[in-house]
Parts: sequence; structure tokens; C-alpha cells
Amino acid sequence: MKLPTKTLLLLLVITAMSFSSAIYIQRTFVYPELVELEAKADRKDVQRVAIGFDMVRNVINTLAYDYGVWDDTFEFLANPSEQYIASNLGIDNFLRHDFDVAILADRDGNIVWYGYVDLAAERFFPPDAYNPEELRPYFADPYRTRPGAPLSNSGIVNTTKGPLIFSSYSVLKSDETGESRGSLLFGRHVDQSIAEEVQDIVKMDFSFATLTPGENQQLKGKNLSWQYRDNNNRMDWYLRDIFDDPILTLSVQLDERAFNDSLIGKPILTALAVMMVSWMIIIITLNRVLVKPILKIGKHLFHIRSTGDYSARLNYRGNDEVGDLGNECDLLIQFIEVQQDELEKQSEKLHRLSIEDGLTGLANRRRFDQTLNSYWEISEREKYPLVLLMCDIDFFKQYNDHYGHQQGDEAIQAVAEVLRSATNRKTDLAARYGGEEFAVLLPNTEIEGAEIIAQRIHSLIKEKAIPHQLSTVSEELTMCVGIGISRNHSEIGKDELIEQADKALYLAKAAGRNQTAIYHDTDLIKKRANEVTS
Ligand code: GH3
Ligand code: MG
Ligand code: MG
Repeated sequence: MKLPTKTLLLLLVITAMSFSSAIYIQRTFVYPELVELEAKADRKDVQRVAIGFDMVRNVINTLAYDYGVWDDTFEFLANPSEQYIASNLGIDNFLRHDFDVAILADRDGNIVWYGYVDLAAERFFPPDAYNPEELRPYFADPYRTRPGAPLSNSGIVNTTKGPLIFSSYSVLKSDETGESRGSLLFGRHVDQSIAEEVQDIVKMDFSFATLTPGENQQLKGKNLSWQYRDNNNRMDWYLRDIFDDPILTLSVQLDERAFNDSLIGKPILTALAVMMVSWMIIIITLNRVLVKPILKIGKHLFHIRSTGDYSARLNYRGNDEVGDLGNECDLLIQFIEVQQDELEKQSEKLHRLSIEDGLTGLANRRRFDQTLNSYWEISEREKYPLVLLMCDIDFFKQYNDHYGHQQGDEAIQAVAEVLRSATNRKTDLAARYGGEEFAVLLPNTEIEGAEIIAQRIHSLIKEKAIPHQLSTVSEELTMCVGIGISRNHSEIGKDELIEQADKALYLAKAAGRNQTAIYHDTDLIKKRANEVTS
């Protein structure tokens, strides 16, 4: 897997983890807190509706007090009169004060007068349209008056005509002294007009419904403080009657929630967008500062490996870790280059040692054999003559004995130098054949050329003028040369060529040394020592 892909995957994993933990924290810790706060505020809002209903009740309560603690009503219960009713409880009074039920009862709870009004139609219902007896339990008890204060009872109750907001007072004199003469109850049935009125007061949108006795029973004792708004921002609440049982459901339309509760909201989407941009920047940066330089280093190393060109340098200019890596690469390659050079030199030296004679620097016997083989093949193919000169220092045993081995070696080196300068062509090969014997290969050379070389050897040795007191043929060091030549390679072999040269050398020795002998096709040997040496 490539580095950018790995990074991308890593970033994706990190993002997924951060987002899931963010969502987890939001869902587990933050969101419930917000919901709970919201619910608290919602419940307060909803309770405002209940307070609105209570304000309506308060209006009726004030009115009931005004009527109940009043000398005229007190007098009416002793002497009921048409006139009191006409001037105080006529249809106008009901409509003006927005109540639809009024009951006046004596001390024993016997109803003295009652009125039930159709507020919409603005007229009284017929007397038999309603049985006010069901409201008797809610009368304020006239017996249990205490001096200076009337007793009252107020709230919402369920009646056969639906929920009723009522208020009742024990009837007293206006100055609240003396005993009560009975009780008074005013009420208003809960209808749409009340809802509108309350909506107006609390400035909230709600609808209400009366609970059936079944529902009422179900809700009894239920802890309603755990109520929450639904998905449409509506919340149900309950108005309670004087027995503290739910009597009305209020369905309140709340404002939109103040916080976003969707799983992937704006903040998360924004964070995601920011993260995506960050990824891009990270990946582009990573690509620029890491991947590209590393690829460059990799390409460079591949180039070096495939071409073997250890002189190439990366010369990376970054001063960061990748730059360090690049510089280390260069240093390593430089080190390898030096090692490589060293190795080449070593192997060259080894090769040279394997084909060179240590004392003289001429080709050794090994190289001579190899070269003879290849020259033999070439000469055979190209039909060239191949000449072999075998050279041997005269009386060298005596030289050694007389002058010592050290000087003997120096004489051998001097002779090697002679052979080196006597052979001019690049293809000519002078080799130390063994001890104080030398061999010279002259490819593509005729017998005349070979004689010239031999002659040159004799004269160069003479030039050296190395003293040799024990030589019987000269005052100085001399040598013999035997020449062998092969013109037709199918007739003789390599070994015969060496044999010929050896034989010629032997003959040169036998003929008195310090001379050259040539081996011919026949056994004829030409002695030229005198020609050469004189
Ligand atoms: P001739 O004229 O017949 O060649 O007589 P010679 O004494 O040279 O006899 P030969 O060719 O057999 O010489 C061999 C001698 O060469 C033996 C040894 O003393 C000497 N010799 C051989 N190799 C070396 C060498 O590497 N260093 C030295 N100093 N002497 C060597
Ligand atoms: Mg010898
Ligand atoms: Mg010799």
C-alpha cells in the first residue's frame, strides 16, 4: 500500500473515531442536558397556560366575593326578592362578567335561586335544562364561618355540562361580621371562548380537550412532570381539578427548539468540511515533502543499481530528515564508489600479478602460454607466420656463482629490459620463460624480421656491457637466441614450434654461444653468431 493511501486510511479512521466520539458525547452527555433544560423551560411555558386559566378563575372569584360578602345578598337570603335578582343577576350581569352559572343557597344548602345562561345566545336556559344539585358539594360551608373572614371554595370541577371553573363564598354582611346566611356560587363552563381568552393573556397557542372519565382514571397519580415535547414541538399538559386529578388536556404549541437535535447537524457538517480540506492539505503536503522526495531517492538508487554508475549524486537540498536521508544516500554511494575503485584496482593488480613475472615485469610463463594459444589460432586462421624466439643467457651459472645471486637477478632484469625494447610492435610479446630463459613471440613476422629482432637483442645486450669474467666467449654478458617459425600451422603444432626454437637455441650454444640459430623446415641450421656478434 502506498504512503498517501495509508495516510488517507489513517485520516479516515481518525475522523470516523472523532466523529463517532463527538456524536457519542453529544448524544450521551450534551444532548440529554439540553433536552432536560428545554423540558424545564417548556414545562414553565406550559404552566403559564395553567396560570392563564387561574386568572380566569380569579376573576370569577373576585366577583363571587363581591356578591357573597354584601349586605344586599345577605338580605336577599332572608327575604328573597324579585328586585334583587332583576338588578343584580339579570342576563346583562352574566354577559358583562362572563359567567354562566349562579347559585344562591340557604344555610342548609337548599337552593334559593339559580340561573344558567347560554352565553353564546345571550339568554337563560330554561330552568329544567340543568340540575344545580350536583354543585351542592362545592358550596362554601356557611356553618363554619369564622369571624372577620368568609369561607370560600374555588377551582375546576367536572359536571354533567363539562368542566366548570367556579368560586363559592359563604354569604356575609359587607363588613364581614356576624354569621353567614348561606352560600353563593358563580361558575363558568370551560369552552372555546375561555381558551381564546387565556391565549390572549399568555400569548401562547394551545388547544384543550376534556378528559373522559376513563382517561382521567388512567392519568391519576401519574407523574406528569416528566412530560416532553413531541417531534412537532407540541407538549401535552393537564389541568387539575379541586381534587388534584387531571381534568383537561392542554396541547401547547411551543417555539422551535433552540438547538439542533439532528444527528448530523451544521456543526458536524462544517467540521467534516474543515477536516476534508485539512486532509487535502495534509496529503498534498505529505506528497510534496515526503513521498516525492522519497520516490526521487528511490529512482536515483534504482538508476545507480541498474547502470552501476556510482558517480551519480542526488545533491538533495532539503534541510529536513528526508534531506538527511538523501545526503546519507550520497555519502553511502560515494563510499561504495571509492570501494568499487579500490576493488577494481585490486583486481587489476591481482590480474597483473597473475600474468606478470615478479622480478622482471615481463609476461610470465602463464601469460606466454595463453598468448601462444591465441596467436596460434589467429595465425592459423589468417595464415600468418608465427615466430618464436627462445633466449638463454650464456654461462649464467658461473655468473651467479661469481657475482652472487643478487647481481644475477639484476642481470636478469637488465636482459628483460633489453627484450622489452627490442620488441616494438604491440602484438610482440616478450616473456620470462623460466630462470634465465626468455621467450619472444612475434606474430605475422617473417624470418627476416625475426633475425632483425634477434640481432637487436644481441646489440642491445652488448650496449649494456655487463661484465662477465667467467665467460669464455666474451668479457661481457652474452646470450643465445634460437628462432623457430611456423608458416603452415597444419603441419606442425605449438609444442613443435617450441621444440624447434629450443633446438635452434641448443645449436647456437653448441656453435659457441653469443649467437642466433634459426630452425628451418629441414634440419638445416644457419649459424649466424659471427654475423651477429661481430
Ligand atoms: P649455458 O651457457 O649453457 O646456458 O650455461 P649456463 O650456466 O647459463 O647454464 P644454464 O642455462 O643451465 O644456467 C642455469 C643457471 O641460471 C642456474 C642458475 O644459477 C641460474 N639461474 C636460473 N634462474 C635464475 C634466477 O632467477 N636468478 C639468478 N640469479 N640466477 C638464475
Ligand atoms: Mg638456461
Ligand atoms: Mg644459460
